[in-house]
Amino acid sequence: MSLLIVGSVAFDAIETPFGKTDKIIGGAGTFIALSASNYVSDQRIVSVVGEDFPQSMLDLLQAKGVNLDGLQIKQGEKTFFWSGRYHNDMNSRDTLITELNVLEHFDPIIPEAYQGVDYVMLGNLSPQVQRQVVERLHERPKLVAMDTMNFWMDIAMDDLKQTLALVDVLFVNDEEARQLSGEYSLVKAAKVIRAMGPHTLVIKKGEHGALLFQDEKVFFAPALPLEEVFDPTGAGDTFAGGFMGYIAATGDTSFNNMKRAIIAGSALASFCVEKFGTERLLDLTKEAIEARIEQFVALTDFDMVETVG
Ligand code: AMP
Repeated sequence: MSLLIVGSVAFDAIETPFGKTDKIIGGAGTFIALSASNYVSDQRIVSVVGEDFPQSMLDLLQAKGVNLDGLQIKQGEKTFFWSGRYHNDMNSRDTLITELNVLEHFDPIIPEAYQGVDYVMLGNLSPQVQRQVVERLHERPKLVAMDTMNFWMDIAMDDLKQTLALVDVLFVNDEEARQLSGEYSLVKAAKVIRAMGPHTLVIKKGEHGALLFQDEKVFFAPALPLEEVFDPTGAGDTFAGGFMGYIAATGDTSFNNMKRAIIAGSALASFCVEKFGTERLLDLTKEAIEARIEQFVALTDFDMVETVG
């Protein structure tokens, strides 16, 4: 089945306690596409870059089955640039620079060949652009998921709420869930956010795993305790790409299958953080992914022995 993705294709410069990069390739759309390509062969991207973006990365995405007809290349303009610095805990970070460049006036044009797509992943972008993409699809896809961040809650809350009303699944981290709902308890926050539109909510808790909420049901998946965490940039996007790639590949949107999708997303995110930027996602094998999923299964597998009473 097919997956339409939207999100920034960007340059990033990252500082972590372990090192620092110059401009490297990043962007929410890039991480989502690379991650989902491990599961789904028919991907279509809507995004924009400047003339400074390397053709080699576009060729690589195409080689991984990503249709680039909806990726605009703006001559004479510069690609979106983001720079961030991680704190010692590697969970929190400061944004140092956001240069919107080509994203400032981005009009997400949907090529005719993208119509009729089965699944949609709206990566982190302005909520107005995310909404335009959904509204420009002639047929309602089987499932529309979206990611967002505190940046949009701070400057475009009304727009964000309008977009939320159109989606089925929302991915946010715990801090964002609290900001969006005004509730500290994540259970209460999930109720408030689900009343805004998405019937399903995924709350990511970084190295502490992820929670899945739907109706009265809750599922928790741990994150794999890793020896090396080098750079968390893009982990959230990689998680979302793995989740939606898995859903698109299996064509099953049941709660039970979403539990598996959470594990698929968590496994891919665990690779992402092991190297800077997209590097670790470029050389993944099916065997390595399957082995890591087995580690997740083993992590929470136990038998209770009756001792009470
Ligand atoms: P994550 O670590 O999953 O939150 O995603 C990091 C990626 O998001 C980086 O590669 C950035 O290029 C991209 N990014 C950061 N801020 C924005 C923004 N305001 N709009 C779109 N993409 C962004």
